[in-house]
Amino acid sequence: MLIDTYGRTATDLRVSLTDRCNLRCTYCMPEEGLSWLAKPDLLTDDEILRLIRVAVTDLGITEVRFTGGEPLLRPGLVSLVERCAALRPRPRMSLTTNGIGLARTAQALADAGLDRVNVSLDTLRPDVFRTLTRRKRHQDVLDGLAAARAAGLTPVKVNAVLMPGLNDDEAPDLLAWAVDNGYELRFIEQMPLDAQHGWKRDGMITAEDILASLRTRFELTPEGGTERGSAPAERWRVDGGPARVGVIASVTRPFCAACDRTRLTADGQVRTCLFAREESDLRGALRSGATDEEIAGLWRRAMWGKKAGSGLDDPAFLQPQRPMSAIGG
Ligand code: SAM
Ligand code: SF4
Repeated sequence: MLIDTYGRTATDLRVSLTDRCNLRCTYCMPEEGLSWLAKPDLLTDDEILRLIRVAVTDLGITEVRFTGGEPLLRPGLVSLVERCAALRPRPRMSLTTNGIGLARTAQALADAGLDRVNVSLDTLRPDVFRTLTRRKRHQDVLDGLAAARAAGLTPVKVNAVLMPGLNDDEAPDLLAWAVDNGYELRFIEQMPLDAQHGWKRDGMITAEDILASLRTRFELTPEGGTERGSAPAERWRVDGGPARVGVIASVTRPFCAACDRTRLTADGQVRTCLFAREESDLRGALRSGATDEEIAGLWRRAMWGKKAGSGLDDPAFLQPQRPMSAIGG
């Protein structure tokens, strides 16, 4: 098992498949100038699969989430999912994607064994989408979402980040649209993980702001009391249900005490937290002939060093070197 000194057990593995992306969301990447991981440093599909196998068979991982950068840009994705589905015990598998290209691949991914998807969409307005992501691909995302639903990659979750002055007036419209289309919407507070280091605490839209805005149009009832277990989203029933909405308040209401995550970057580094400043190199071990047992040992040791919290509340907080796109969100 992957346990830490605070008694938490990691069962959920986030695997970043690339740091590259076909969008340039302002809260994530600069318009240009971001340097990419070097090709030889990236794990191959076989290396990724080997690490996932060790995680699943030796370390108690039960959930695998593929992310990035944009994971649909990885050519071997469908085959990776298929090979991962053949592991025993079979992990549950999901994908976090911006949805571009999903219209083409959703059915193949479902056939390969993918269980569900999270698609990121921050706005219903094509012009705002263009400003937020610096690309004209709004319709591609909507098409990807519809294809995911048709392929049974359900529940299809939609992740939205609200940015002041851009889409912070859209929370109720996004929720009405998600309810109408059978998607489960989750708002994510903007975190200090952008490559440009432009995040400001007093400039972000908080969970409280989001809920106040939603309550102007919907009745929200907390789901399952105040307990959210290890799930980062606090969820509310919308107008009595069955529709729900989630808010991931990573900044204002952190959930570190119940964290069950471990992360693998596209270049083979284990991270214990999005905000960690340390990493443990599994790629080096893999490439110098380490056994599965040795790799499992390195991973366990990394998790044993996991800190109690993100450190966001500490005035001395320092943003990690890697941006979100290279960590895997
Ligand atoms: N490209 C894929 C996507 O956008 O879904 C997967 C990677 S992306 C880094 C994963 C999630 O992180 C997305 O939902 C995105 O909105 C979110 N994200 C990126 N930067 C963020 C930030 N600074 N604060 C909060 N969420 C962020
Ligand atoms: Fe790309 Fe996802 Fe980052 Fe947007 S949030 S730039 S889609 S990696």
